[in-house]
Amino acid sequence: KSFEELGLSKELLRGIYEMNFEKPSKIQESALPIILSDPPTNLIAQAQSGTGKTAAFTLGMLHRCKKEQQEPQAICIAPTRELARQLFDNIHRMGRYTGLQVQLVVKDENMDGRCTSQVLVGTPGPFLDAIKKRAFDPKKIQVFVLDEADVLFAMTGMLNEQSVKLKKLLNPKCQSLLFSATFKPEVRDFAARIVPQPCAQIS
Ligand code: AMP
Repeated sequence: KSFEELGLSKELLRGIYEMNFEKPSKIQESALPIILSDPPTNLIAQAQSGTGKTAAFTLGMLHRCKKEQQEPQAICIAPTRELARQLFDNIHRMGRYTGLQVQLVVKDENMDGRCTSQVLVGTPGPFLDAIKKRAFDPKKIQVFVLDEADVLFAMTGMLNEQSVKLKKLLNPKCQSLLFSATFKPEVRDFAARIVPQPCAQIS
């Protein structure tokens, strides 16, 4: 299937083609029909870096956001500030013709006042702080993405508990997408706490 056949908007297609993506990669071919499905389907996917996984979930997030609604509708969490920053750049590039705003939610990034961006990317702790400060309404989030779940799980600190806590604040109907390069049993248990069952699984 081509990107056109997946039902993406022309604004998103323009962004993709400008990045020189001609046709979907293998992971995109299997994940995108699930990610873009109506009603939305939850997903746990095994994918390494370099496979095109970022574009798969990014297109899903951007596809479901409405630019007329100036409030967060999709959130993506990463294990570190640096990874969040890279994701931010990618999402920003892919969505440049959509009119959607993307914002970083990491430590030291100013989150004062009400947040008007449709897409938020960051690390778990700063997301919890932003919700506590009522920067956005977690119940309005339509898509929740957790990237590099194995890396996040292996890191010291409370990142996994914070992620589960964040997930619990969202609307139970929110679409959840989790990506990980590997799935040790502990990571699989963690994934099951983040992504409601039943869910689609791909590897
Ligand atoms: P990722 O696995 O998300 O880290 O992506 C790996 C690299 O592949 C990135 O530089 C993307 O820009 C690129 N990429 C993703 N999807 C495609 C595609 N369909 N065609 C060509 N390049 C792509």
